Amino acid sequence: MITVDAALSHLFALVEPVAIEEVPLAEASGRILAREVTARRDQPPFAASAMDGYAIRADEATPGARFTVIGEAAAGHGFGRPVNAGEAVRIFTGAPLPEGATRVIIQEDVTRGGDTITLGTDIGTKDHIRPAGCDFREGQSIAAPRLLRPADIALLASMNIADVPVRRKPQIALMSTGDELVMPGEAPGPDQIIASNTFGLKALLDSLGAEARILPIARDTVSSLTAGFTLAHGADLIVTIGGASVGDHDLVGQVAGDLGMDRAFYKVAMRPGKPLMAGRMGDAAMVGLPGNPVSAMVCGHVFLAPMLRVMLGFGACPTPRKTAPLACPLPRNGPREHYMRAALSADGIRPEDKQDSSLLRILANAEALMVRPASDPARSAGEMVEYLPL
Ligand code: AMP
Ligand code: MG
Repeated sequence: MITVDAALSHLFALVEPVAIEEVPLAEASGRILAREVTARRDQPPFAASAMDGYAIRADEATPGARFTVIGEAAAGHGFGRPVNAGEAVRIFTGAPLPEGATRVIIQEDVTRGGDTITLGTDIGTKDHIRPAGCDFREGQSIAAPRLLRPADIALLASMNIADVPVRRKPQIALMSTGDELVMPGEAPGPDQIIASNTFGLKALLDSLGAEARILPIARDTVSSLTAGFTLAHGADLIVTIGGASVGDHDLVGQVAGDLGMDRAFYKVAMRPGKPLMAGRMGDAAMVGLPGNPVSAMVCGHVFLAPMLRVMLGFGACPTPRKTAPLACPLPRNGPREHYMRAALSADGIRPEDKQDSSLLRILANAEALMVRPASDPARSAGEMVEYLPL
């Protein structure tokens, strides 16, 4: 048995960053920016009015001053001529500031009669101008790698970047194994249950930037598992679920070995999730997860997510942890690192009473996987502990 950290080091060695592709901006949300990109222009490209009002020379902005309105500047339509002493230009938000104008008086602070305006008694001190380049300058960059969020997409658009270099989505093939399994929506026989793990893992991995593909369920036979691996062809990462233990019907390790998988390790000192195998299999990395639903999902968070981040160019590091105070005391932990389903509240973090690795409803209600190091001593309420947010 090896530690979680040692297992992660092995897993990181099995994967590498996938290729970079360009996608249209409208399809880039949720993708991983793969190369630094730089703004193609200043924003705003000219000094612009931030309000509707009148553009004048700032040195003439005194309460009660009068000006002659000589024209108009609107968004997309500059005035085109300079503003001289005693002159004002009617201006609207987003319009380029006319040459010579250095202040905008908002329309609420102005009285207009015909072509003349008179400034009010309280015009404040703000110039209501957005200087050229106040948002960003041409050549300013967004660093990579970066998960592109909606605000990033707006920024890229504003920088005039129509096509975005992103990592191609890592292809992950997910295969449930077991004679007892049927797909959701099918009619299970009396001895059967519904395959849940592939669906939970697809949801997790897709949300992190992968393109996961659910293969047909493989039966607990050499031929069915062999056929399953054939269907996984082309994937960057093949994940099997179940059949990884040492029972008579646990054939995944044997079949993968026959197909050339050179196994990097087997069994990790963790709860849940002990039987875990991994290695290279042809062009793909292969990970065999335990079948218990909570074990499979925990291994998804602890192992598959960091592997995926390597494939997306983020470098090798464990899933980031947070800390919270314990809401209750805890007995000492055994020799395996324990990922406990836990609730978060104002009192801190509290593990659920039932930690059986088959209980999906408890996992679904949990907000955190509280991490107990191997052989951690007993802890009192209030001590700080680490957790993975769910
Ligand atoms: P195994 O690792 O194949 O011995 O499976 C351990 C437990 O997990 C058994 O109770 C299986 O029925 C269950 N199991 C295995 N694969 C899945 C799956 N894809 N979805 C839900 N339960 C599963
Ligand atoms: Mg099985």
